[in-house]
Amino acid sequence: EIVRKVIIAGNWKMYKTQGEAAEFLMEFIPEIDNVPEDREVVLCVPFTDLTIVNKSLHGNRIRLGAQNVHWEDCGAYTGEISASMLTEMGVRYVIVGHSERRQYFGETDETVNLRLKAAQNGGLIPILCVGETKQQRDAGAVEQTIFAQLDRGLEGVDLRRLVIAYEPIWAIGTGETCEAIEANRVIGIIRDRLSDPQVTIQYGGSVKPSNIDEIMAQPQIDGVLVGGASLAAGDFAGIVNYK
Ligand code: PEP
Repeated sequence: EIVRKVIIAGNWKMYKTQGEAAEFLMEFIPEIDNVPEDREVVLCVPFTDLTIVNKSLHGNRIRLGAQNVHWEDCGAYTGEISASMLTEMGVRYVIVGHSERRQYFGETDETVNLRLKAAQNGGLIPILCVGETKQQRDAGAVEQTIFAQLDRGLEGVDLRRLVIAYEPIWAIGTGETCEAIEANRVIGIIRDRLSDPQVTIQYGGSVKPSNIDEIMAQPQIDGVLVGGASLAAGDFAGIVNYK
């Protein structure tokens, strides 16, 4: 059961060969020795890096995550990976519905919902990504967009075995961070929409060592999902060691 847990997760996207992952870990692991016990450090890596990262899980400090999961347990689904395949490799978390998957790979709220339920049934904690585009924000449709993603995505999903990441799409990979106060406001709205106020909700979008303290100081924000800045060991260590 996960309730308002501090979870600092990295999303490597489609970066790092096994060799590059090993290099990252050599530098990163010594830098996280003093991370407080109540912070969960998660690395969501490409499927091909799961083995090498799993071998290096450092005194249980790093939890292993994947970036997608199929809704069936097995079958004729070329190129897909199931929850049982992931758990057997030591995976605990899986990102579901990242905006890049929605934008480039046809992910919809319906397929997101199927993947969330399959992840939970298989014993994984899914990290559901929601967030609006710049056009939706400019049109005053932030709430409407996110409510649709939540209402359709979370049908039949157990809120106590789930993490939500609020990722405004205009702030992803752009260097343009959502103001911490604004991220806090939207996450408060997301929390109010859910039947359980104790859900762990992260912020994601251009998080870096220079803005992590302000983000984590916000009362509604439980953690962060970090893309670009999780690729450099020094940067990601700076984030997990926030004040
Ligand atoms: C992400 O990929 O989820 C993300 C938030 O990316 P970035 O930190 O690079 O904006």
